[in-house]
Amino acid sequence: MSPIRRPLVGGNWKMNLLSAEARDYVARLGQLSVGQAEVVLFPSFPLLTTLARGLAGSPVALGGQDLHPGAKGAHTGDVSGPQLVDAGCQWVLCGHSERRQDHHESDALVAAKVAAAIEHGLTPLICVGETQEERQAEETFAILERQLRAALPSARDRFELAYEPVWAIGTGATATPEIAQEAHAFLRRTLAEVMGEAIAARCRILYGGSANPDNAADLIAQPDLDGFLVGGASLDPDKFLTIIRACGWS
Ligand code: PEP
Repeated sequence: MSPIRRPLVGGNWKMNLLSAEARDYVARLGQLSVGQAEVVLFPSFPLLTTLARGLAGSPVALGGQDLHPGAKGAHTGDVSGPQLVDAGCQWVLCGHSERRQDHHESDALVAAKVAAAIEHGLTPLICVGETQEERQAEETFAILERQLRAALPSARDRFELAYEPVWAIGTGATATPEIAQEAHAFLRRTLAEVMGEAIAARCRILYGGSANPDNAADLIAQPDLDGFLVGGASLDPDKFLTIIRACGWS
């Protein structure tokens, strides 16, 4: 954890929870202090308005899990940046590996989504990460660099990053603190080359991949790790809060 970058923790609910469960979750979250970490929830689209109402007045922000590059039009099943803003979002995930894999999102499409997010006043949380095969083939840095360089020209200076090794997502095979730090330091060096030292120094690089209450403290102790993007463990507010507290400056 850096002394200058405020930790950021995102909860990616993916395609989980119903509105009654979301209301209960918010009630449990509201009873507990989140310390000084910045917190964002990324529910599925139908839950956004329920959460926007529930989180009104709370320091917890709201984000979409995806957006279409266009502002409106004939795109069945998609959601636009203005619609996310209208539903109460300040953030949006761009390039999550489940979108890259399940929906064949290319680097160019991720870059277009990042541009749309910025244009509509949303902060993109850009996700990058290598698969198991790419790591075994020693292509990790090449993949990270390719994904990052493709997305950055659209990102101007308002974005944050998440390193999410695909082999660690939802598998329980969390990256060791050393593996995570190596990737985060590489991403920050690449950021400095592309965007300059100031942006590289302020950008939060979150770790995502089976983060949980048992491994969060060791991971967040790494100097280039600035928080977490949490999937499975964010569905349980107690686990999510334990991870948030591990990142607390308080
Ligand atoms: C994710 O999908 O962003 C994620 C990190 O999932 P999990 O924590 O379940 O590995």
